[in-house]
Amino acid sequence: MLTLNSSINEFNRVGTTTATLLKKLGLATGRDLLFYLPFRYDNFQNNAKIADLQVGQNANIRGEIELIQNKKSWKRRVFVTEALINDGSDTIKVIWFNQPFLTKTYKIGDRISLAGRISESYGSLSLLSPVSEKIYSEDLIHTSGLVPNYHLTANLTQKQIRFLIKQVISLADTEPDWLPENIRKRLGLLSLKTALYQIHFPKTLEGAKEAEKRLGFTELFLRQLQAQLIKRARQNRQATSLNFKEEETKKFVNNLPFNLTDDQKKVAWEILQDISKTSPMSRLLAGDVGSGKTIVVVMALLNTVLNKQQGILMAPTTILAQQHFNNISQILKDWPIKVSLMTSDKRDKKAINSDIIIGTQALIQKNIKFPRLALAVVDEQHRFGVRDRQKLLNFNSNNGLTPHFLSLSATPIPRSLALAIYGDLNLSLIKQMPVGRQPVITKIVTEKKRSAAYDFIRQEIKTGRQAFVVCPLIDESDKLGIKSVKAEHSHLEKNIFPDFKIGLLHGKLPAANKEKVMQDFVDNKIQILVATSLIEVGMDIANATLMIIEGAERFGLAQLHQFRGRVGRDKQQSYCLLFPSQEEISKPKTLERLEALTKYHDGFTLANIDLKQRGAGELYGAVQSGFPELQISSLFDYATIKKAQEEAIKLITKDPDLKKYPLLRSKLGKWENDTHLE
Ligand code: ADP
Ligand code: MG
Repeated sequence: MLTLNSSINEFNRVGTTTATLLKKLGLATGRDLLFYLPFRYDNFQNNAKIADLQVGQNANIRGEIELIQNKKSWKRRVFVTEALINDGSDTIKVIWFNQPFLTKTYKIGDRISLAGRISESYGSLSLLSPVSEKIYSEDLIHTSGLVPNYHLTANLTQKQIRFLIKQVISLADTEPDWLPENIRKRLGLLSLKTALYQIHFPKTLEGAKEAEKRLGFTELFLRQLQAQLIKRARQNRQATSLNFKEEETKKFVNNLPFNLTDDQKKVAWEILQDISKTSPMSRLLAGDVGSGKTIVVVMALLNTVLNKQQGILMAPTTILAQQHFNNISQILKDWPIKVSLMTSDKRDKKAINSDIIIGTQALIQKNIKFPRLALAVVDEQHRFGVRDRQKLLNFNSNNGLTPHFLSLSATPIPRSLALAIYGDLNLSLIKQMPVGRQPVITKIVTEKKRSAAYDFIRQEIKTGRQAFVVCPLIDESDKLGIKSVKAEHSHLEKNIFPDFKIGLLHGKLPAANKEKVMQDFVDNKIQILVATSLIEVGMDIANATLMIIEGAERFGLAQLHQFRGRVGRDKQQSYCLLFPSQEEISKPKTLERLEALTKYHDGFTLANIDLKQRGAGELYGAVQSGFPELQISSLFDYATIKKAQEEAIKLITKDPDLKKYPLLRSKLGKWENDTHLE
């Protein structure tokens, strides 16, 4: 007998080939199938008489096959199958392409159900390439009512998945509902069983919505519960209390070449207060590119060192680590503080005893322990995998104490999103930009204007400025005509700017070369730096005032905004020139999207525009590892996220070990094993 634990191979019509394909989708058991949710429905609720059909309508018709045959088409290599269907009211012609096997599946006299769009050819109505199924009973799953559509992989069909889901749906009754009954009732949510039925085979769209609401809530609830448990576990640990060294901090701030913004003061205060406690801080510091997060971090690190403890700062790339190292060493040069760099190439044993250690993942290698670690800072943490993040959160130093944890993000992150992703972290937001920053003048440059733009760039460089040129891909092999860095580099060098020094930077260069190129750019030995999206994160070169982006339409607005943030770091006027590919820019949608960049200069606004056009998945999804994979709930459904968080907090306040909720516990179990929480 089939159960939810049955392997997918045991299901009807699953051979080894199909099983392999299903496994690609992560479907290995009946339970996996049951929780494999559709992403949309075809609406074939309109069950019509053939005589009443109208052109353009989506309809489901049922009738008897009067004729079915394969025909040769006037175009060779296209199989055409034609059938005539009669439902008693009238007859309609049905046409399929390249499905010659249909004449074997369906015979004259069979009753079938068809769904699709009604079109017109030669003055009479017809049905082109409809979905179809034989009628055995009233239980139609492909052609009638609201028909679910699932994400597929090559060589799997909707029909196959639906057929499997149909087999497994009756087992929904055997899956216990792990959402506590009282929460479910209070929020008026469907039971798990009903929700599963209604999400796969809804009778009405409202029913599907209700199901989505229930399943979406539980998804967020589980996530919030996990976050709250991490938070609690961390709160129960001991951290070193880092006293606020008021005098020294004042001295530090007074010696800065600028005044802190109010937001910088506010978040610095939040952080300094937090690290003075004996329970470890878990905090996210979010602020747009250039909002000045580094100086806030340095204030925290300074206080750490003044308390005779160590701080580490981890960056996602060697270049960034190097830059932070240079920058922070410079800022702290008048203080008796030992700052070291630790990357995979630079692994100095003595570094672990320094006051501040800046580095890459090399910092969290297995056998590395810092003797007095009290503060761990991670820059652009979304660039790290979930594992790295957990490693960090559970980082213990030699003294057995848990370090305070501060995470930095330049992704314009709405509060609700931060809550959903990092429910275990408190949030500090810098919304304000330092005064005196001029917005970067941003222009879309068409091919016609390209040479004029090059003239402008030449002029600027002649006055001593520097330029970035960002290209989307590394290799020349792309057929889309997207400029690759290498090709662009040699093109600019040979044909456009033979009089300037042009550098090349991409992820596949050996680390030593990267650093050399970076250093040359910093020293203005290179005037133009051609790079991949590598420069997106954090590179800070005040003298660079030109940002040129090739194939601009290939990037999201949030990402383009990050690129743009690489310039405009100085008092000088900076420019960002977007060069979209020629065909793309003729599309109104592309143009509209890029125009947003010319109008708006804050990351939050741009992220929201991007979101409307492209969806959260693309914006924050694939590009950022460590991001939660939510199947249905929206990260922008603030109300539900908030509710899920409230319920999670309520639950674990009453029952911190979830003693009364064994189902919930086991649901969280696997994850707990992964994170080694006590
Ligand atoms: P990000 O938040 O992107 O990490 P940084 O910390 O690198 O930004 O700061 C960007 C630049 O702004 C740096 O050159 C920094 O010295 C400068 N900066 C930081 N705070 C201020 C301020 N309050 N006033 C003027 N310039 C500032
Ligand atoms: Mg930064």
